Amino acid sequence: MPQSLTPASDNPVTRSLSPGIDRRSFFKAVLQIAASVGLSAVVANQMAEAAVRGKKPVVIWLHFQDCTGCTESLLRTTQPGLAELVLDLISLDYHETIMAAAGHQAEQALQASMKANAGKYILVVEGSIPTANNGNFIRIAGKTGVNMLKEVAEHAGLVIAVGSCASWGGLPSAEPNPTGAVGAHEILKGTKVINLPGCPANPNIFLATALQYATLGTLPELDSDNRPKFAYGRLIHDHCPRRAHFDAGRFAQQFGDEGHRLGYCLYKLGCKGPATHANCSTNHFCEVVDAWPIGIGAPCFGCTEKKLAFRMPMFQTVDIDRPRPPEFYPSMTAKYSSVSAVATGVVGVIAGAAAAGAFKLSKKVNDKPESEPASDKPSDGGK
Ligand code: SF4
Ligand code: SF4
Repeated sequence: MPQSLTPASDNPVTRSLSPGIDRRSFFKAVLQIAASVGLSAVVANQMAEAAVRGKKPVVIWLHFQDCTGCTESLLRTTQPGLAELVLDLISLDYHETIMAAAGHQAEQALQASMKANAGKYILVVEGSIPTANNGNFIRIAGKTGVNMLKEVAEHAGLVIAVGSCASWGGLPSAEPNPTGAVGAHEILKGTKVINLPGCPANPNIFLATALQYATLGTLPELDSDNRPKFAYGRLIHDHCPRRAHFDAGRFAQQFGDEGHRLGYCLYKLGCKGPATHANCSTNHFCEVVDAWPIGIGAPCFGCTEKKLAFRMPMFQTVDIDRPRPPEFYPSMTAKYSSVSAVATGVVGVIAGAAAAGAFKLSKKVNDKPESEPASDKPSDGGK
């Protein structure tokens, strides 16, 4: 039997969940997490060694107005042992959804962890914070969400907002926003809050950020919205497997049509990929190939952008700033029998042989399937 890395614990969260995984699987999984977000193998080894030595980031995870989807994406992994890995990599001291303790016992666990790890623990916020009605849309242990967040954040070493709700309000903040939902940074003015938007956020981005902070004491480089550039530095559109169809002008016109079934570009169905910074196209969810919206035929709805998801209508197309391919390409086809006997005579035997080769090639290019769906360009093409 492989030796478990998870010691017997009286941690109120882990005692209900993890049997532990063997050392080899543990290092392999850390390497995968690091690689998936662009960190080197050296950094991955440092992270894993630190975790083995017991230097795990202590995490206090608070829920506010959320669907728990961000937690689910962290735990509902299909690779065997990854759920356990999560619990081996971090010390999850308080998490309302999965902890065994409840009521006063849970409150005691929270207070004890805050006291023991003051200035060092990572506070993870999931869900938006209601501000309307004096914040009374949420009360936890008798405190409003606003007060609870401020209290726990005051002694945290790092605050991470996981998901679009915690980053900038997300779904609960959609018009007319009855609860006055806002992101964590709007409550914690003056405190640095790392935003990991996504609906849900990709768990590998959270793990990589938390482990880098805990083991190296540094933060990843951030963009102007405090999102790590390693994960949010590129547009979906620039790394989309359907990009070739966009460039060639092949678009699904409606759900279920032939172009949609053939995997054509989803721009005309409202895909926000050209304006969305995220790494979903290269970092799929739950280790399932193609488990991301565009991978299963749904347009990207821009969940990592505060001005897109839950703000812009689902099927409205976004502007594209980058240069587009031309409206028309020169034809790739050549006419049959275009190489005349006179021409071959002029250019000689060698050129004639080359022309004959070109003829064969052109014939191949022209051997298209009989029923090819019509290609098209974006309706606002030429912008
Ligand atoms: Fe749920 Fe999305 Fe909010 Fe995460 S960001 S809690 S998945 S609604
Ligand atoms: Fe991919 Fe959307 Fe860009 Fe089309 S518009 S290439 S589906 S990101």
